[in-house]
Amino acid sequence: MTATAHAIIGGAIAASISNPAIGIPLAAASHPLVDMIPHWDFGLGWKSKKKAVLLIQSAADLALGVVITYALFGKTTDTLYLFMAIFISESWDILQMPYLLFNWKFFPFSTFYRFGHHTNGRAKMPWGIVTQAATVGSIIGVLRFVH
Ligand SMILES: [Zn+2]
Repeated sequence: MTATAHAIIGGAIAASISNPAIGIPLAAASHPLVDMIPHWDFGLGWKSKKKAVLLIQSAADLALGVVITYALFGKTTDTLYLFMAIFISESWDILQMPYLLFNWKFFPFSTFYRFGHHTNGRAKMPWGIVTQAATVGSIIGVLRFVH
């Protein structure tokens, strides 16, 4: 999914589960789970993209995710915990970036790339965004309910 979606999901987990010993592993586990839902993101078609374009898009996506997540949950959640949850939930994709950007096709980057490649459900626009918004919305809803 987009880094924005992963950030909001990680943040929603931290905002609802006050114990980091549960929240952090859950934020980590959320990444491959939601990636199985067919979606669109900037990584689609990365081979035909200029590396600089991919880097700028990914960085902008991540920055947007941090800003939205902080706006949503920053007031009610411990800042360090919130940022840890965002970082952990993004880490699977961050660890693929050296493979995509610098052709570092070796461990651990190649492992994360292959894992992401096999677990990512792909969908074109606009459905690839609709499924993502629905996923993020339902997760926030469920967490609010449990909380
Ligand atoms: Zn991913």
